Amino acid sequence: MAETTTNWAGNITFAAKELHRPRTLDSLRLLVAGSERPVRVLGSGHSFNRIAEPAPGGVLLSLDALPVEVDVDTTARTVRVGGGVRYAELARRVHAHGLALSNMASLPHISVAGSVATGTHGSGVRNKSLAAAVREVELVTADGHLGVMGRDDARFGGVVTSLGALGVVTALTLDLEPTFDVEQHLFTEVPLDGLDFEAVAGAAYSVSLFTDWRGPGFRQVWLKRRTDQPLADFPWGRPATEALHPVPGMPAVNCTEQFGVPGPWHERLPHFRAEFTPSSGNELQSEYLLPREHAVDALYAIDGIRETVAGVLQTCEVRTVAADEQWLSPAYGRDSVALHFTWVADTEAVLPVVRELEAVLDPFAPRPHWGKVFTVPAEVVRGRYPRMNDFRKLVRQLDPSGAFTNAFLADVLDVELDLDPDLDFDLDQ
Ligand SMILES: Cc1cc2nc3c(=O)[nH]c(=O)nc-3n(C[C@H](O)[C@H](O)[C@H](O)COP(=O)(O)OP(=O)(O)OC[C@H]3O[C@@H](n4cnc5c(N)ncnc54)[C@H](O)[C@@H]3O)c2cc1C
Repeated sequence: MAETTTNWAGNITFAAKELHRPRTLDSLRLLVAGSERPVRVLGSGHSFNRIAEPAPGGVLLSLDALPVEVDVDTTARTVRVGGGVRYAELARRVHAHGLALSNMASLPHISVAGSVATGTHGSGVRNKSLAAAVREVELVTADGHLGVMGRDDARFGGVVTSLGALGVVTALTLDLEPTFDVEQHLFTEVPLDGLDFEAVAGAAYSVSLFTDWRGPGFRQVWLKRRTDQPLADFPWGRPATEALHPVPGMPAVNCTEQFGVPGPWHERLPHFRAEFTPSSGNELQSEYLLPREHAVDALYAIDGIRETVAGVLQTCEVRTVAADEQWLSPAYGRDSVALHFTWVADTEAVLPVVRELEAVLDPFAPRPHWGKVFTVPAEVVRGRYPRMNDFRKLVRQLDPSGAFTNAFLADVLDVELDLDPDLDFDLDQ
């Protein structure tokens, strides 16, 4: 069946001629094992680049026709979730058991497997990327074999934020905690001059700062306070007097409840409600994670090209992500500040600005978000990941025929060029 498949943003039309939707795990395994062509999985399609595109002539696979599996273990406080399930569905079911995920991204519309594969994160000085909640990965490799890998496996650091390079993730088991409530308190007009970034970013469980770079400060700061944690003073801005959307001109009704009204974690940690379009819906995105101690210097570097950035920008969001252990997580080993840009939906106009932005951020060794638009050369990206070589060995071990390697991976990871077929799997610890 020929059909045209695009990503959520519509800026990528996948060249793969077919989108396969197996209905059972067995048919998925047969399909993968029987395919003599390259394979890639498409999650919910919320990435803005060609990370999900199979190599030429390859097969694109969706898991959205598999049964929705969400199995909560209230004793162990874990949940096993199928490879096609989105956070909105997962969160609803977890909450029904009186349990919670420790954090979420800005939207619940994204698939869990696709999100953790790209290092997707929310915010919070003590909150790691979403991949850190994963304790077990179920993976179908190119020969159709179904394997399970847990935290006690020496390879685990490579298998969660894997960029889809190792096989089809058919299920993940995640850590949970007892449910908690969150209140959102929004402030406006927080200046860049004199910004005490550590204090602002640490003023609540999860904090986001927004600017359109049309002026030198932040138009909005969103504090997401857990009601089981103290409410800190926030002397740096004015309390918002109306409900706000982070993208100017978009309706606040699309956003989760504000004005300090307490609500369950999954209805406050994301900015956008599951039943509405998230963000602007007509956009491109880029994001860079860099060591948190450089946050203010990096913000001033952007301020130096403020007019250029503002010309193609809808909104910029500044968040924090705690260091994690996934080899390819953009927050690997570094407490990070995440500088996010929602651009206008015009690739030609945006790319030159992305290049200029990357040039001013370069001194801070930023790691681009794997699912967003970036132009940082592959060899530079590779050099920013100390365990990159281990990941390349892992790709070779689990996918020796390169069935899951696509052009994005071949470029960014240099997997096809450097891997030696006789290489022994020997991790550098
Ligand atoms: C409006 C919007 C808001 C966003 N907000 C945030 C945010 O707050 N924080 C943040 O960090 N990011 C954010 N993102 C980026 C988004 O989280 C990532 O692009 C993420 O990868 C989306 O998951 P997906 O399922 O759509 O992935 P896809 O784009 O479908 O796939 C991403 C990668 O995962 C692989 N993959 C997917 N499923 C599987 C599977 N089952 N097995 C093996 N490989 C698989 C694909 O092959 C591909 O390589 C946002 C994106 C949008 C559009």
